[in-house]
Amino acid sequence: MCTDRVLILGGTAEARELAEELYAVGVRPISSLAGRVARPRLPVGEVRVGGFGGPEALARWLHDHGIVAVVDATHPFAEQISASAAAACPRAGVPLLRLERPGWSERDGDRWCWVDSLETAADTITQLGKRVLLTTGRQGLSAFAGVDAAWFLIRCVDPPAPPLPAHYELIIDRGPYTLAGELTLLDAHQIDLVVTKDSGGHHTKAKLSAARERDLPVIIVHRPPRPAGRSLPTVSEAVEWVHGQILGR
Ligand code: NAP
Repeated sequence: MCTDRVLILGGTAEARELAEELYAVGVRPISSLAGRVARPRLPVGEVRVGGFGGPEALARWLHDHGIVAVVDATHPFAEQISASAAAACPRAGVPLLRLERPGWSERDGDRWCWVDSLETAADTITQLGKRVLLTTGRQGLSAFAGVDAAWFLIRCVDPPAPPLPAHYELIIDRGPYTLAGELTLLDAHQIDLVVTKDSGGHHTKAKLSAARERDLPVIIVHRPPRPAGRSLPTVSEAVEWVHGQILGR
C-alpha cells in the first residue's frame, strides 16, 4: 500500500473514476467535494467536503496534510476552484495536473449556436425558440429570469433558487441520459430549442444527439478559459501521471 497522499478536486464522474482506479492500484486518494449537491455521488476512499477558503488556505491545507500531488478533476465550468488550485500548488510546492474531458464538437446535421456566456445565451433564446430545454445547471439560472417570451423545461440535480424564468417546469434528475429518453422528453414537452454548456463527456451528451435527430437548434456556452498548466484528457493518463509523481519522489 502506498502511503503518499494525493488530493483529487472532484465533483465529476471522472474524479470518481480516478479515485476508483487509484484505489485499485494501491494509492489512497483524498477526494474533495464543494458540498453543493444535497446527495452527492461519493467516490471510493476518503472524502472531505467544503471549500478550503481560497488559494492561501488551500496551500496551507496541502502542506498540513502532506499532499504529494493534486489532480484538479473539477467540472470545466468550475473556474474558481481551478484558479485556486493553480495558485496554491506552486505555493505549496505540490505538482498539479488538470484532468479535463474534451469538449463536445459539432457533427453534420447539428444546428449549434455557440455563445460566450449564460447572459448571451439568454439574449439569443427568443431568436431561436419558444419551448426550451435548459440544462445549464442550477447555478446561473438567474441569467434566464428575464426571458418572459419562452417556456423552460429546467433540468438540474438539485432544486434551484430564485430568480427563475416566469414560465417553467422543473425536472430534478442527474443522468446519465439515453438517446431514447431524451427524444421522449423533447417530444413530450414539444421542445423546440436546447440550451446547454459545453460540459463534454458521455453522461449528458444524448440531448445533443436527440436535438440533431429532431433538427432542433442548440445554444451552447463556450468553456471559460483555464489557468495554464499540465492538462490531460483521460482518467488512465491521470493515473499514469500520479504514478510518475509518486515514483519520482
Ligand atoms: P467554483 O465556482 O469553481 O468554486 C467556488 C468555490 O467552491 C471554490 O472557490 C471553492 O471554495 C469551492 N469548491 C469548488 N469545488 C470544490 C471542490 N471540489 N472541493 C472543495 N472546494 C470546492 O465551482 P462551482 O462551479 O460552484 O462547482 C462546484 C463543484 O461542483 C465543483 O467541484 C465542480 O466540479 C462541481 N460541478 C460543477 C458544475 C458546473 O457547471 N459549474 C457542474 C457539475 C459539477 P474555496 O475558495 O473556499 O476553496
